[in-house]
Amino acid sequence: MNITEIIDKKSLGISLTNGELFYAFNGYLKGSVPDYQMSTLLMAIKINGMDYNEIFDLTEIFLGSGEMLELEDIPNTVDKHSTGGVGDKTTLIIGPLASACGVNIPKMSGRGLGHTGGTIDKLESIPGFRTNLDKKEFIDLVKKNGFAVCSQNKSLVPMDGVIYALRDVTGTTNSIPLIAVSIMSKKIACGAQNILIDIKVGKGALIKNQKEANELSKIMVQIGNHYNRNVKTMITKMDSPLGVAIGNSLEVMEAKEILEGKRVNDLSKLCLDLASEMVSMGKKISKKMALKEVNNALNSGEAYKKFLDFVKSQGGNIDKLAISDKKQYILSIKSGTIKNIDALRFGELSLSLGAGRINKQDKINPKVGIILNKFVGDKVKTGDVLCTLYVDKDYEQSDITTYFDIR
Ligand code: URA
Repeated sequence: MNITEIIDKKSLGISLTNGELFYAFNGYLKGSVPDYQMSTLLMAIKINGMDYNEIFDLTEIFLGSGEMLELEDIPNTVDKHSTGGVGDKTTLIIGPLASACGVNIPKMSGRGLGHTGGTIDKLESIPGFRTNLDKKEFIDLVKKNGFAVCSQNKSLVPMDGVIYALRDVTGTTNSIPLIAVSIMSKKIACGAQNILIDIKVGKGALIKNQKEANELSKIMVQIGNHYNRNVKTMITKMDSPLGVAIGNSLEVMEAKEILEGKRVNDLSKLCLDLASEMVSMGKKISKKMALKEVNNALNSGEAYKKFLDFVKSQGGNIDKLAISDKKQYILSIKSGTIKNIDALRFGELSLSLGAGRINKQDKINPKVGIILNKFVGDKVKTGDVLCTLYVDKDYEQSDITTYFDIR
């Protein structure tokens, strides 16, 4: 077998066999296939797609690259994953919310991908927070707190770790089969019986329209069913950034404020919805009953307590969370009503401030990012602060005001 023949075949739109997929992907993981050849193959997959057999084979290859967790002795297991958006810090909120209601959440998350942020980067902005957990530690933490988050590592789906990092910097993030394989291999390996997928659709998401979202939903449900898992999908909008914060530490701060009951916004509403779906799936109760439990967990402070326990148990010191003290204010140059806020451009802005990676080896700066001061539907006047940049050096502000559609 020869990697250039495999690339050639896929670039002509011909389906690859299990053996060919194994040769290419395993070769990349082991180091015999270099970055430039795997990047080309990923691009050929992005352009030509994959058929169902290829998708199932590739999921099995990803799963086979590491171990699978056996969680039979843990009841009510539910996992959740988002396909990624701008300001999407839902995991940090729904994990504590749903686990406070008695479901158990073993969650493997990713780093930032393209212009979208990643839960692992957000959590690692909390000084001391560890996501590189081994199998035993991860299971013990789920048993102790009902919620634990780990990154892809040498024992759990290492293939996703290396392919994800390469996709991030090669323009191959928005491929439906690659998204499905990446997410579902992580979800299956982590062992939860119930899986909720939040498919983000819109300008700021990897998935741009409803048709693609439906297709991704169908594939993910089928992969889940193949492995005997109960999978539900929710398709939710991502045209404007979610919540007020974009950037790692800033997003953790917003999540904390929501759990403390200090902030109610589009993000908190989405989290109540997602968390009640998880509780409904895990405890096999109606969504209405689940919503009642989730609201109680929030209002009683139980969910916030869970958050603090979760952070502490994984080594984090939330009191040391830091944001940049250098700020730049973006002022409106016109008056009117905000019709839309461009999530994609804010995601790209956050990347260029240093909150995400442009090259594979880039180190992110957890302290930088953006706080939105105005939202869709708000009336603004010339000179009002639209958003605040948290920067580590002076940033050329250029056309940021145009990310707000004011009419
Ligand atoms: N999240 C993942 O884990 N993988 C993807 O490909 C996209 C979002």
